Amino acid sequence: MNQIRFDGRVAVVTGAGNGLGRDYALELARRGAKVVVNDLGGSASGVGASKDAASRVVEEIRDLGGAAVANTDSVATRAGGAAIVQTALDTWGKIDILISNAGFLRNNRFDDLTDEQIDPIIDVHLKAAFYVGQPAYRAMRAAGYGRILFTGSASAMFGHAWQANYAAGKGAMLGLSNVVALEGSAYGIQSNVILPTASSRLEGEMNTGYLEIPEFAKSLQSADFSASEGRVTPAFNTPLALYLVSEACTATHGVYSANSGRYSRVRICASEGWFAPMGSTPPSVDDIAAHFDQICTLGEYSEPMTPYDEFTAAAKAARKQGVHS
Ligand code: NAD
Repeated sequence: MNQIRFDGRVAVVTGAGNGLGRDYALELARRGAKVVVNDLGGSASGVGASKDAASRVVEEIRDLGGAAVANTDSVATRAGGAAIVQTALDTWGKIDILISNAGFLRNNRFDDLTDEQIDPIIDVHLKAAFYVGQPAYRAMRAAGYGRILFTGSASAMFGHAWQANYAAGKGAMLGLSNVVALEGSAYGIQSNVILPTASSRLEGEMNTGYLEIPEFAKSLQSADFSASEGRVTPAFNTPLALYLVSEACTATHGVYSANSGRYSRVRICASEGWFAPMGSTPPSVDDIAAHFDQICTLGEYSEPMTPYDEFTAAAKAARKQGVHS
């Protein structure tokens, strides 16, 4: 029996015509949600448009006996974002869940990236999160309930050669989601980021030029893929994504990774660090050099949720190191 259900819930999944978004939309519908299947229907590098991708998935959902409606607006414009959310409001009167997932790649080495490779990538990953996220959040705030899942990437959290444009857009999901989670906590809105891993048509865009970077090539060539056999599929990401947008999930302000069937929490943390002697004299550059190992040691670390938590963590370190009582 499916314990986690979405009966009565209205979900918007962007980029749901293929890959991860399609799988999220199908499973949401199987578990009772009414789904807006958004997809512009362009290529894996964001060229062109077609109504086919979204309508195919809507048909699949209806064939399963589920409820779905297609939307083919672009997430990368203010008007498109508003129209996508309006489709949910016009059809079912509300939006409970937003999975912001649409996107594409245009890889190149950092110094060769052109505006045609930077601007559309920032638009579809970063600006789209505002264009779709803001109208969705407004409706959720009015209703006092919402679940938002932004799509980040390990390419941003950990780094991936030849993806500076993409990593900049995806890395921004961390800051954006953290703030949406904090502000949304007053209105029953939770926000998290997923770092998915799945073979999809985006693989075709993953040219291998980045192998010219020795450190990156070494990491790729020595990687152990033995646990991932048959598990780098959208379906291995969907359970985590759907749990994070379920009513049962109370986690917010987080980043979660799905990789080869391993589900983990990814977090930004601060080392205990080195506390400069009390007083108003700042340390010198030489003091930093002398304590740099201690600054870098992550033996004990804190996980600030706001900039103010960091003050608390610093004071705790000062007491521990005997420079402050
Ligand atoms: P995909 O190409 O199979 O699906 C992405 C969908 O987004 C496509 O159907 C495309 O038409 C749609 N889309 C693109 N631009 C759009 C726009 N402007 N408006 C509306 N729809 C648009 O790719 P996927 O692998 O399923 O990727 C889904 C998301 O996950 C993307 O944001 C991607 O960057 C991210 N991601 C994927 C992986 C992975 O391993 N596949 C890893 C990390 C992050």
